Amino acid sequence: MERKVRVRFAPSPTGPLHIGGVRTALYNYIFAKKNGGDMILRIEDTDSKRYVPGAEEYIIDALNWIGISFDEGIVEGGKYGPYRQSERKKIYKEYVDQLLVNDKAYIAFDTPEELEKARQEVPNFQYDSKTRSQMRNSLTMPKEEVERLIREGEQYVVRFKVEPDRDVEVNDLIRGKVTINSNILDDKVLYKSADHLPTYHLANIVDDHLMEITHVIRGEEWLPSAPLHVLLYEAFGWQDTMPQFVHLPLLLKPVGNGKLSKRDGDKLGFPVFLLEWKDPTSGEISSGYREKGYLPEAVVNFLALLGWNPGDDSEMMSIEEIIDKFSFEHCSKSGAKFDYKKGIWFNHEYIGKADNVRLALLFHSILLEHGVTDADPVYVEKVIGLVKGRADLLPDLWTQADFFFKAPETYAEKDVKKRWSEDTPRIMEELIGVLEGIDDMTSANAEKIVIDWITEKGYHLGNVMNAFRLAVVGACRGPHMFDITELMPKEEVITRIRRAIEKIKPE
Ligand code: GLU
Repeated sequence: MERKVRVRFAPSPTGPLHIGGVRTALYNYIFAKKNGGDMILRIEDTDSKRYVPGAEEYIIDALNWIGISFDEGIVEGGKYGPYRQSERKKIYKEYVDQLLVNDKAYIAFDTPEELEKARQEVPNFQYDSKTRSQMRNSLTMPKEEVERLIREGEQYVVRFKVEPDRDVEVNDLIRGKVTINSNILDDKVLYKSADHLPTYHLANIVDDHLMEITHVIRGEEWLPSAPLHVLLYEAFGWQDTMPQFVHLPLLLKPVGNGKLSKRDGDKLGFPVFLLEWKDPTSGEISSGYREKGYLPEAVVNFLALLGWNPGDDSEMMSIEEIIDKFSFEHCSKSGAKFDYKKGIWFNHEYIGKADNVRLALLFHSILLEHGVTDADPVYVEKVIGLVKGRADLLPDLWTQADFFFKAPETYAEKDVKKRWSEDTPRIMEELIGVLEGIDDMTSANAEKIVIDWITEKGYHLGNVMNAFRLAVVGACRGPHMFDITELMPKEEVITRIRRAIEKIKPE
């Protein structure tokens, strides 16, 4: 029988979710949606030493920001719960015992010092079929001794008994069949008596099985663990319901070779986290895509294309279109260069297309930051409509439109030099008169009247228009002048020209 598609995103709450993890979550989500399946959030917190407070909430908030929600998880609940591994201790113990009883695992008492000594004495030491007979474990010690030590509270671990000389096959939807020999695997620790907790490998396999996961979609960095996972499925006798593996290509540095790191972001000025993150220990703040002024749909579109292509030349795609076109056949095996400039390009395109009312809401906090508290929302929407095509990031809306909200206090020196001559104040006075006479300030109408006046007087078009702009904007920049004066109240335009006449002193 076809099983219902069930995928999981299984982060360890060791800090903020890195952009590579976000891409993994996104591909899981897309695949689940495409197949009408379930998306599960499982928190893999069995390593208590690495637990970072706030990380769980952060992961959920960050994914929600880009529209990823879960069908089951620590917030939604679900019939396969609990979804936090630290709350599943009892379950794991049962399965560890099952492996021990079936001789698929054994108990080892070697202390860290003893292991270190073995590493010093045996070149390339690995705890495996060749060395386990020389170590202190339940395979080499009498049963009574093992039982006594456990009774006396001696710390131990449970190790997986990897059979030597076996070819282990991992079937991966992107990589095809990968075969490795079991001799390169060590007898991995599955459980530690010290904290009564399983390690990642055991908890991961048991949970994927119990939660009826059908596809394990995760980063390439987990590929080396996959052969061990296959052997664990076999050891439990679960090979028939083993999930399909999908290892996603690494995200690579934008320049140079190697894996993308936070340092690349710091150096080149792009975030590697979705939301700003404050490290609870150091207080250090790392920037986020949201706070930098990206739109979530731009981030989604950009990330979706890091490792996958739609098979045609579509670039701008809504999440629905991505889901529609998605397949692992079009995922690449080789790493995907993190071209952050492409991310900025997407954002530029999406801001240009975004609804003005929505942008105005997002722009509100930027206005407040600049001390603008009383802007009329309808005015803000119109201004945004005029400048949004020029913004890469949301704060660029301010750099493009600041003069709509604040009259210039200074005038760009080099523009003054070039465009403001002795004659200019007189011509600007005349311009005020012309503007006062215009009833309909819509762009085309005002433009026609002003240009007719300039032509009739035989003035220099460029000089007059640039002086006009200098007076209203403070510099020779910004959208079409008559688009500006269509939006800005006429009295404000005239006041600004008057102020410029008073304040600008040509050399
Ligand atoms: N807890 C692992 C992580 O932090 C999960 C890896 C997996 O998906 O199997 O990414």
